Amino acid sequence: MSHRTAALPASGTDNMAEGINYRRVAIIGVGLIGGSLARALKRAGCRAEIIGYGRNHLNLQRAVELGVIDRFETSVALAIEGADMVVVAVPVGAIGDMLGEVALNLDPEAVVTDVGSAKAGVINDARSALGAKLPSFVPGHPIAGTEKRGVEASSAALFEGHAVLLTPIAETRPLAVARVRAMWEATGARVIEMDAARHDQILAATSHLPHMLAYTLVDTLARMDESDAIFQFAAGGFRDFTRIASSDPTMWRDICLANGEAIVAVIEQFQTHLASVADAVRQRDGDKLMALFARAKAVRDRVIKNNQGGSK
Ligand code: NAP
Repeated sequence: MSHRTAALPASGTDNMAEGINYRRVAIIGVGLIGGSLARALKRAGCRAEIIGYGRNHLNLQRAVELGVIDRFETSVALAIEGADMVVVAVPVGAIGDMLGEVALNLDPEAVVTDVGSAKAGVINDARSALGAKLPSFVPGHPIAGTEKRGVEASSAALFEGHAVLLTPIAETRPLAVARVRAMWEATGARVIEMDAARHDQILAATSHLPHMLAYTLVDTLARMDESDAIFQFAAGGFRDFTRIASSDPTMWRDICLANGEAIVAVIEQFQTHLASVADAVRQRDGDKLMALFARAKAVRDRVIKNNQGGSK
């Protein structure tokens, strides 16, 4: 279904690398992250027409009503027509397919980026999907989010003060990186470039492992005989620790499939450490427990103080 508007605004190619004066921005997947980016760009004064793509007509209609996007298409080819910035914001497992469709109709001067939470797998998919358009692709990941999904949860302020990691590859055009950097900086984020493998290792530890723990904790308790009583008396600590277990299962299945090796490595490291904690409890080794708790408290207090704001 097509929802078209009039002529394109004037192009601002002269200083495109410096700012966000795009002609058209296409958001492929108008959910929490895609919707928040669209809102943040509008708030930053981006005058480009913002076109959303998705499969769900009602969701897209809602995004227009909320003023998140200007119009929508349910065909990728139509959504990216005339766009000079294309942002793919669907679950990691669907990014390759979306890039394949983007490649068929991408303007030669346009830049395409993604927001997927695991990067090496997305880059592999991009290599097969994009072909000659690969240099226009800038892999990216905003380290900001919530356990909520969908455009209703989107916010213009989501990325403010948060990091956005870009993981360009040898083929990536420097101008494309500059344009994606400028886009994220306009949202109030700080942009850091790093290697995809390093990104995946770091995120496996700081984000993917905590999600595995939260999901597994809730599932373990739910399987216990006394689970009703357990949940009835669950207090604030349980709520804090397990908030992220309300995250979208599709998103987390895809992240595990895309970053399996790094995730398994940190899970195994954690299992070894947890087993040593169980030993200390079994042996009533108060000194060992005290040292561990004090060390962890000091680290957490310092990290939270230096680095306000959560991430995915
Ligand atoms: P979301 O709120 O569920 O939005 C994803 C959107 O993509 C949906 O609105 C959906 O729209 C579309 N979509 C879903 N599956 C699709 C498919 N198979 N093919 C095409 N479109 C599809 O999810 P999100 O939280 O924004 O996450 C999007 C991406 O951002 C993921 O790659 C995730 O790893 C990454 N990320 C998420 C967070 C976070 O905290 N949530 C943080 C950083 C990065 P339709 O139903 O209309 O098709």
